[in-house]
Amino acid sequence: LKLTERQFVEKLRRAARRRMGASTRRGLHLRQGIGDDCAVLSGAGKYDLLITTDLMLEGVHFRREWQQADSLGHKVLARGLSDIAAMGGIPRHAFLSLALPRGTDFRWVDQFFAGLFRLAESNGVTLAGGDTAASMSGVVADIVVIGEAPRRKAILRSGARPGDEIWVTGVLGGAAAGLDLLRQGKRIARRTQTLRPLFYPQPRLSIGRWLSRRGLASAMMDLSDGLSIDLARLCQASGVGACIDADAIPRLRRTPLEYALHGGEDFELLFTVSARRAGKIPTQVEGARLTRIGQIQRGRRLRLIRAGREEVLPVLGFEHF
Ligand SMILES: [Mg+2]
Repeated sequence: LKLTERQFVEKLRRAARRRMGASTRRGLHLRQGIGDDCAVLSGAGKYDLLITTDLMLEGVHFRREWQQADSLGHKVLARGLSDIAAMGGIPRHAFLSLALPRGTDFRWVDQFFAGLFRLAESNGVTLAGGDTAASMSGVVADIVVIGEAPRRKAILRSGARPGDEIWVTGVLGGAAAGLDLLRQGKRIARRTQTLRPLFYPQPRLSIGRWLSRRGLASAMMDLSDGLSIDLARLCQASGVGACIDADAIPRLRRTPLEYALHGGEDFELLFTVSARRAGKIPTQVEGARLTRIGQIQRGRRLRLIRAGREEVLPVLGFEHF
């Protein structure tokens, strides 16, 4: 009997909830547990604590022959920062656990950390700890990022309501287009611009904060596994359906629609805005465009309007197992 990732997470969420003791009601208590981009811990202070973890495995999430060490260090941290951005939070500290195969070149390790520290510094994040081990097969990198949001202001996946508009930041499908080039075995050096979204994604921290400060987003998450599957997750958390317009989905010229719909690792933000507040969303914020792509609806169905016709939105993003 095979378990999908969604079933696995749901099982774990229920088990964790059953075992949550009364002790958690005092001191730091869990406001949002399994099932969002970050866990949210609330205490007595003015800020809630945001915590996210992300695991990257060689051969599953990346290939060392395709990706330079500094890009990998960048990306490990970027994935965590993107989850903090998805809550409208500010990242503060990171913890990295790294397992390396015996005999890994020290220059590879130096470059890995150069990439990680460059992104950390530009976002005011410190590396506060972690662990190391020898790996029996391939590089394993696990990042924990701790951030903060003003008390009760973290933007959850569960706040979308029928009638809300659906928006995304930036353009979608860029990382999938880069991956496609690598799969075709094209020369990498000449294609750095095309590979940038895949190798050096920029987490949308300032836009997340901008939306949070103004209280504009009713729900938000980052796009890590693909628009179709991530929209399905947001809708499931909110108990709603959605309809999106294929023509509205922002992508670069020559990026196939399928990449923008189902390609992973764009690390853009997907958010919803009540119809009443939608007029306050500009088309450009902090150097990135914001695009309305559809609307939240009653029920649970996900629909796509393509060439004037309405069809069921296929949910085909990256499932981990
Ligand atoms: Mg996420």
